[in-house]
Amino acid sequence: MPYEPPMDVDEFRRAGHAMIDWIADYWSDLEHRPVLSPVEPGSIRHALPTAPPEQPEAWASIVADVDEIVMPGITHWQSPNFFAYFPANASPESVLGELLSAGLGVQGMLWATSPACTELETHMCDWMLDLLGLPDRFRSSGPGGGTILDSASSGALVAVLAARERAAGQWRMNELVAYASEHAHSSALKAIKIAGLLPEQLRLVPTDDEHALDPDALRALMRDDLIEDRRPFFVQATAGTTSSTAFDPIEAIADVCKDYGAWLHVDAAFAGVAAVAPEFRFVNDGLHRVDSYTLNPHKWLLTNFDCSMFWVADRQPLNAALSVTPEYLRNAASDGGAVIDYRDWQIPLGRRFRALKLWFVIRSHGAEGLRAFVRSHVEMAQGLHRRLDTHDAYEIVAPTRLSLVTFRHVGGDAENERVRDAINESGRAYLTHTVLDGRTVLRAAIGAVRTEPRHVDELFALLDQHA
Ligand SMILES: *Cc1c(COP(=O)(O)O)cnc(C)c1O
Repeated sequence: MPYEPPMDVDEFRRAGHAMIDWIADYWSDLEHRPVLSPVEPGSIRHALPTAPPEQPEAWASIVADVDEIVMPGITHWQSPNFFAYFPANASPESVLGELLSAGLGVQGMLWATSPACTELETHMCDWMLDLLGLPDRFRSSGPGGGTILDSASSGALVAVLAARERAAGQWRMNELVAYASEHAHSSALKAIKIAGLLPEQLRLVPTDDEHALDPDALRALMRDDLIEDRRPFFVQATAGTTSSTAFDPIEAIADVCKDYGAWLHVDAAFAGVAAVAPEFRFVNDGLHRVDSYTLNPHKWLLTNFDCSMFWVADRQPLNAALSVTPEYLRNAASDGGAVIDYRDWQIPLGRRFRALKLWFVIRSHGAEGLRAFVRSHVEMAQGLHRRLDTHDAYEIVAPTRLSLVTFRHVGGDAENERVRDAINESGRAYLTHTVLDGRTVLRAAIGAVRTEPRHVDELFALLDQHA
């Protein structure tokens, strides 16, 4: 007997329109919801039936449980009062692109499995080079090129694998050494571990007083490693660290990498998209010298998770590291060598049609809109910086180069935790902390799609009230 699914196309149309209405209503009153979910661990599971249903359930009752059970456990990342971590933009256009991608249900592992999925992606990677003023070495027409991965963490991992491939031959795995500053994202260590190296094969390079990697210290470490018959093979530099938007000096690091033959990967997960505005192109400094580069439109460029750009100057070692071709994946187009098969640029075989949402975002905002978007957040951050700088109870602890303000209560670590908790428990804003120079500091990352100056005014009022 053929199976009769509960939702036919007409019912999908009705339920789908209602779901879009639900999301639009959610976005409309989002700013009034407490940002941080207050639920206790286990409370969501407690509200769910222990066993899955035997009988089909009505769609209406499933949707009702979203409000009943799920929503209390949601931390509202799209709230204009969300200042924690880094933003995770979900603009209307990108959400529609995501929906379309799901509707098409395409697997883009090979060019042949959906030519548009591959070619739109290649084209968006090239468009992003133009939008951000990035070097031509990443352009698809040359030996390099770009792809859209799920995350900057995946970008760090495939960069390590490509670097390992390039270093393979004369050296054994246990002789390889990688380098990153102590302020590099935790994904650097994770990539090293997944690549089969030991944690101690990642050296933490000292930083200067602005938390940027010290290239002389890097050179000294590499020299010592080489003397001991270890092979410096990989450096992960950061353009815009998570704690304080510090920028490692890429050009000076590239000089060191060149002398030792190490792969240079630059992680600009958060800050990279700022280059859409010419006055912030300092984030691109030195990129004409690097092997790979990653940044996340899914943080601060209006595109919902996941959408992480990854470029290489030479795709050969990357593809050599990741290409495995069983007979069932062989096809004329791939064998002919005229097409890109993005499965050779990532860990999984299957892949989502991520380029659609980025295409929607770029076209509906235009370069002009993207610039205005990024600028508006930087302006708000600078305003908050000025007010905190002159406040008796607070001090700024790192330059506000883009839209992240890193500051602290002058009363010490416990006071900073108290202020953070008081604000987060109030539900009216959400911010997180980090540790810089051994001290607890607070971060206000401005960049939600709907954040306006009045929301930052409110954040400042809260900080003042709880000072
Ligand atoms: C957020 C962030 C990451 C991690 O990004 P994912 O895409 O979530 O893996 C890596 N590096 C930096 C500097 C970041 O800010």
